[in-house]
Amino acid sequence: MKTEEAITHTKEDASKGIYDHACDVIIGGVSRNTVYRKPHPYYAESAKGCYVKDIEGTERIDFANNMASLIHGHVHPKITEAVIEQIQRGSAYTLATEAEVRLADHLTKRVESIQKVRFVNSGTEAVMTMIKAARAYTGKPMIAKAEGAYHGTYDFAEVSQVTSPSKWGSLKHPNSVPLVKGTPKEVTDLVAIFPFNDIKKTLDILDSHKDKIACVLIDPVPHRVGLTKATNEYIEAIYKWTRENNALLCFDEVVTLRVHYGGAQDDYSVKPDLMSMGKMIGGGYPVGALAGRTDVMDVLNPQKTRLRFPHSGTFSANPVSMTAGYMAMEMFDQEAVYALNALTMRARKQIEEAGRIADIPLSLTGAGSMFRVHFRENPPLSFREAYQNEEERAIIKAVLDHLFFESNIMMINTCACMFSTVMTGKEVDRLSEGMLNAFKAIKPKLIEANLIK
Ligand code: PMP
Repeated sequence: MKTEEAITHTKEDASKGIYDHACDVIIGGVSRNTVYRKPHPYYAESAKGCYVKDIEGTERIDFANNMASLIHGHVHPKITEAVIEQIQRGSAYTLATEAEVRLADHLTKRVESIQKVRFVNSGTEAVMTMIKAARAYTGKPMIAKAEGAYHGTYDFAEVSQVTSPSKWGSLKHPNSVPLVKGTPKEVTDLVAIFPFNDIKKTLDILDSHKDKIACVLIDPVPHRVGLTKATNEYIEAIYKWTRENNALLCFDEVVTLRVHYGGAQDDYSVKPDLMSMGKMIGGGYPVGALAGRTDVMDVLNPQKTRLRFPHSGTFSANPVSMTAGYMAMEMFDQEAVYALNALTMRARKQIEEAGRIADIPLSLTGAGSMFRVHFRENPPLSFREAYQNEEERAIIKAVLDHLFFESNIMMINTCACMFSTVMTGKEVDRLSEGMLNAFKAIKPKLIEANLIK
């Protein structure tokens, strides 16, 4: 039996052994490309707090936190206890549960733009449901989104998620680039792409499709665009445009809800009509949510005689995710948000200092409890500025590998960190020390790639 073969490997090559077996039964050996790594991914054995142990027995500090979803780190005792209590009473029923009402009540009180909520199972589903709700509300077919922004894997949301100089076209009219071969042209034709934070060009692009745009989809601090914050003027300008053109402003706060107590939208003078959430609101379990103004959310309301958007999902609002999410959000109160953001700021300063000591070009972008490291003097302000060529990608990989293997530190593969409330100054010190060592190690590569004069 192959399974038996897999467990007979020596401790040192245990992950390689499982991966060999995985390749026989899972395409490419992985179910999410995020964990893919050459020559093989590492397999987790267990985790606690901000540490994860792989099956070889190496323990690493976890600055990835399952792609920003574990706001309180791993196996938080209060969340685990609440989940166990719920699981013993059932994991999913074809009945509603009070757990979803509790989490919805928390979110409506917490986030200014939220009047009503509907839960789904992932951020992808939340964004998809939001786009469909916007179409149902406005009766229009198109969406507009920022070049390079990641919003999950719905056909329309993933247009121009990955693009490059040979494909992206002029900045005045960025091309709508499909991610997946075979994407119907009708899909790309219905997605207008704009350059993030550029008011004039964005408004010109929106104007050229004004009769067709149902919503402007925007992540206020988009990770793949460079983790740079949208300016207040930019969001105000888009908001105003949507008011004048029968369109909705839709925020994707799947990641950015962590930025302030009430989400990244606390930074803006105008609020979205709809928003998507996910990740941390599930307390470590799969979740997504769509939320916003009652009159817009009403398109999903089964009490209406003319239901414009029939919607269901087998595991939507399952009581395990709802229970874990409620506990996580209650614990991530105003004070916890401030403390986490302050700790993250301390890490940013220490890493900048490490860059100065190693004498390499370095800038950090981000907001709240997240940041991204760029190997250039000035922080990128747009997707095209943040775009990395192959040499830059190789440098980032070298830094991440150095951290992973030499300092036992895990980060997100764009060279980003998402903090959790169980971290302390000790983990921050280890991170900046690990960074300094990695910077020194990659300096010759930076010189070779002409990134240092
Ligand atoms: N929106 C944003 C901004 C995201 O970062 C992600 C996931 N990284 C998604 C949507 C999709 O969420 P999920 O992976 O839960 O489908």
